Formats: sequence, C-alpha cells, structure tokens
Amino acid sequence: MPKARTHADRSKSRVLLFLGAPGSGKGTQSAWLSSQLGIPSLSTGDMLRGEAKRNTPAGLRLREVLASGSLVSDSIVCDAVAARLQRERESGMILDGFPRTLKQAESLTRILASAEMPQPVVFHLHVSRERLVARLTARRHCAECGAIFNLLSRPSARGMFCENDGGKLLQRDDDSREVILRRLTDFETSCAPLVDYYRRTDYHRIDGDRDAELVSAELLRIASPARTRAAA
Ligand code: AMP
Repeated sequence: MPKARTHADRSKSRVLLFLGAPGSGKGTQSAWLSSQLGIPSLSTGDMLRGEAKRNTPAGLRLREVLASGSLVSDSIVCDAVAARLQRERESGMILDGFPRTLKQAESLTRILASAEMPQPVVFHLHVSRERLVARLTARRHCAECGAIFNLLSRPSARGMFCENDGGKLLQRDDDSREVILRRLTDFETSCAPLVDYYRRTDYHRIDGDRDAELVSAELLRIASPARTRAAA
C-alpha cells in the first residue's frame, strides 16, 4: 500500500511559480512557502541585482536596465533559471518573478519537459493597483543585510535604520513613483498572455488584497492538498 503523502510530497520535484505585479507579495510569500515546504526558492530579481553589483561592463549594463524598471533579456534570464533548475531537479523549486514573458513561459515548459519534471503549479497573486503603489512607495531595504521593511505595514523598530544591524534603510532605484507606474503598466501588459498560457493548467488566482497570513494559508492549502484532506 502506498504511504500517506506528507505536505512536502506534492511539491517535491515540482516547480511552484508566482505571477504577480511588483509589490504583490511574491517575495514574502515564496520565502515563507519555501520555509514551510523545505524547497528552495529563486527570485530572479534578487539574482539579477546580485549580478548587477559586479564591476564589469555586463554588471554596469544590468544596473542600468534594473534602475529603469525594464525587463532583462529573455535569453539571459532563461539560461540562468535553466542552470539553477538542473541543480534543483530533486527538490523542486519555487520561482518568484519568472516567467515574466510568454517566451520565458514557453522556455520553462521546454526546460521542465527535458528535465522530466512535472509542469508547474501557478499562483497568480492579484492585488489592486492603488494598494500596489502604496506598498511600493513605502518599501525600504537595509543597505547592509538586505532585510525588507515597509514604512506602512512593516516599519523597522529603529526608524530609518535596520532593526537587525543598524544599516541605513534605502529605497530601491526602481521604487520611485514614476518608475513604479511604468513597471505596473508593463506588468499588466505582459501578465495577460501568461494567464492565457497557464489558465487551463494547475493555475490558481489568489486574492492578494487580503492579510498576508490569509494569503499564506491559502497557498499552503493548495500546495499541500493531501495534508488538508488528511486533517479534515
Ligand atoms: P523584482 O525584484 O521581481 O521586482 O525584479 C526586479 C527587476 O529585475 C525587474 O524590474 C526586471 O528588470 C528584472 N527581472 C526580474 N525577473 C525578471 C524576468 N523574469 N525577466 C526579465 N527581467 C526580470
């Protein structure tokens, strides 16, 4: 008789991916889900920001693209994700911020098929535009450790300094109001074909306007149906 599945089983070797506008909570939720399910998460934004710190011509070009809020080329991002997925074939992976274009989604389908991994579970975090703008303009990060704070919903206990290490809190270059509005419009344009692409697959539209804890609970329920059924 097969063993009862644990909540990690459904996500094992599976890719869980988040579609969501900047500020929709993808980063927070994917990090949380990663800790709950014990599978690694990859934020393509964090990965690219890391690459952009290099003092090389490629690093400098990347810095300019990121500061403008435009997307990095599909081939650069797809190659990096493919390489990482190869290393995480056994555990599966949570993708935060990938795919962002139809080409990337098609590339992911091919990468998973050739790695003989199942096609992804897709979480579409939907948040209203007003809430996104409010969240993003209030977002700050520590210059030293990178911890994320929010002046409205998650202020640092030490004001404009990080409560962990006293580092100065900074605003991301692409979190200025003008760039935010453009990033949101770009997201709306690029997300529609992705929703069409995934709609008839393991796709879940999640109401991200709710408290983060409620969103987390729903994500975990979907990622671990065997556990929910066992508890019922
Ligand atoms: P994020 O941290 O997800 O908001 O991403 C920050 C920036 O990284 C984006 O505005 C893009 O410039 C770049 N980026 C992140 N993920 C991708 C992706 N999948 N494709 C292209 N560019 C990306």
